[in-house]
Amino acid sequence: MEKSTCPKTGLKRLNEKDKRTRQQHQLTSGKQHAMESNGKIAEIILEPETHDIKHIKFYGRNLRFKCKRCAIFCCKLGGPKLAFKDVERLKKGGCRETEFLDAPHGSLKNTASGSCVFLRLDTEKDIYRCEVYSNRPTLCRLYPFHTERTGLNSFVLEVMPCKGISRRSGEPINEKFIHAHLLDALNDMFFQ
Ligand code: SF4
Repeated sequence: MEKSTCPKTGLKRLNEKDKRTRQQHQLTSGKQHAMESNGKIAEIILEPETHDIKHIKFYGRNLRFKCKRCAIFCCKLGGPKLAFKDVERLKKGGCRETEFLDAPHGSLKNTASGSCVFLRLDTEKDIYRCEVYSNRPTLCRLYPFHTERTGLNSFVLEVMPCKGISRRSGEPINEKFIHAHLLDALNDMFFQ
């Protein structure tokens, strides 16, 4: 089924198939995780001084992740809240505050279709790209993971609905993965 395109932004709107995929995925991944680990995939404890990883306990599953750049569950769902550091990082990267900041809500602006202002469609490859990827906000750097603080230096890691989870070609979600992709964002979010 063809996706219709917003005439203003050039972004593809979610078609019925994408909407169904989103709903089904939300239902099935929710059930799966609820059965296996109550939604949690790991518990992380950080060193109190350095905030490096001290200990991680994983809950059973051999999860993998590789982003499909579909934007179905993330960049079309409304802009995330921005921390002061997120705003500064985007400005240092050359973005103007008026371009990206939804000031009354303290969040990233959306287009009329609900997509992030920095989301662009690569029409040749039929994938989405983020125009500010290396300076993207902390919550975007963490997606598709969600962290709950359970103590001063301890966190629970949960996985959100995402088409990139459990792809065979994905990177295993293990300590190396958390170190490489999530630790800085976790530190930015809770310690700085
Ligand atoms: S994070 Fe998940 S939902 Fe978002 S673009 Fe990547 S695969 Fe799609």
